[in-house]
Amino acid sequence: MEFWRDYLFIATISYIVPLSLIALIPGVYISLVEGYYAIAIFDIFAVIALLAIAFSQGLSIQVKKILFTFTVYALAFVLLTALGTFGPGLVYLLAVSIFMIIIFPYRYAYLSIVLNIFFCILYGIIIHWELLAVYQLDENGVLSWIAVSSNLIFLNAVFAILIPKLFGGMQETINLQLQLQQKLKEEQKNLELSLKELKSKNQELEQFAYVASHDLQEPLRMISNFISLLHKRYYDILDDKGKRYISFTLDGAQRMRQIILDLLELSRVGRTTYKKEKFELQDVIRELNLLLRSGIHKEKARIHCNSNLMIEGYKPAYVQIFQNLVGNSIKYRHPDRSPEISIGAKEAYSSWEFYVKDNGIGIPKEFHDRIFNIFQRLHNQKEVKGSGIGLSIVKKLVENLGGEIRVESEINYGSTFLFRLPKKVEAIG
Ligand code: ADP
Repeated sequence: MEFWRDYLFIATISYIVPLSLIALIPGVYISLVEGYYAIAIFDIFAVIALLAIAFSQGLSIQVKKILFTFTVYALAFVLLTALGTFGPGLVYLLAVSIFMIIIFPYRYAYLSIVLNIFFCILYGIIIHWELLAVYQLDENGVLSWIAVSSNLIFLNAVFAILIPKLFGGMQETINLQLQLQQKLKEEQKNLELSLKELKSKNQELEQFAYVASHDLQEPLRMISNFISLLHKRYYDILDDKGKRYISFTLDGAQRMRQIILDLLELSRVGRTTYKKEKFELQDVIRELNLLLRSGIHKEKARIHCNSNLMIEGYKPAYVQIFQNLVGNSIKYRHPDRSPEISIGAKEAYSSWEFYVKDNGIGIPKEFHDRIFNIFQRLHNQKEVKGSGIGLSIVKKLVENLGGEIRVESEINYGSTFLFRLPKKVEAIG
């Protein structure tokens, strides 16, 4: 506010100096013609004073404000005396009081009232005792002046109360806004930091998963090889218990291999850079049939897809998503019927919407979100083999492409996985 007060004062001065010339030239001319020499001289004096206030380098802005106030008071005094107590002198008195309220701190707002009261009393004395030849419109002398000046003081008081209130409210709003802006900036900074941290932690984790799963393959291969050797060479001399232990170990090693491969797959999502290409959904279905042919054949599964949708995107990512979803639809088939899987696609304004619907065992409602978490399985290894990573890979792929995925399912009737992928995707990798 302090800044605005000074700014307003400087702006006023810089406008008033050229504008005062408009009032000065005719004013001085008429004063000289009419014989008001005092006004003519004072007009010129006032403009010189304004110029001095505007261009003097050494004076502080506070001193300039005080000088300006006194210049306007002096002008009002001369105008009242020469043109009468109902003339422009009054307007100047009101204007200077409003100006004082605005350009000085609000704690001095009452000062404008005090000054005006003092001025009015002084002028009343001058009129009453006829100390100066004041031009008067009527015969009532000081009584008229009391009536006029009390109105002036009243208006002065109204402005002294209202203006600080108005500006105080504005100041509060500005302060609040500044505080909010500051807070927002801090929050944004914090968010950016957290995001950066999260990104680097994610990268670290992915790197860790990749290295761990990659390096684990070698010792695992060794365990599997030696257990197989043990099984081959010493099969005859082992008792039943020994044979069972070896078979458990081989089975465990096999499962561990699958988990490591899936983990590697998961950590590769986002690392592999694909090329963008145009392809039909039917191309993806054809690849699916090849990749899943043993499962399809074994479970007598049927895959339906009538869509001719043309896609522009990263085909390997699409194949991987559908392979996992359709693979699950076959794996989690209902024991009483062979798998019927429908794949559908719809083109929306800025995205493609897909679904994979099966007639399998279904998923309990409370697991609809959790199944997308890593290692979340609803079946043990004896029932259905798996690592609990497939849907995590799907979710990561979909989200990496800027999309989202959810499931709708009813137990014993089947599940529908629905996902949406935006058409515009920046290079993933
Ligand atoms: P995995 O199949 O290796 O266990 P996923 O991450 O692919 O791991 O799936 C997580 C769990 O979600 C599965 O264990 C299974 O219980 C459930 N699930 C996934 N797809 C289906 C489906 N089509 N029908 C029924 N259950 C499903």
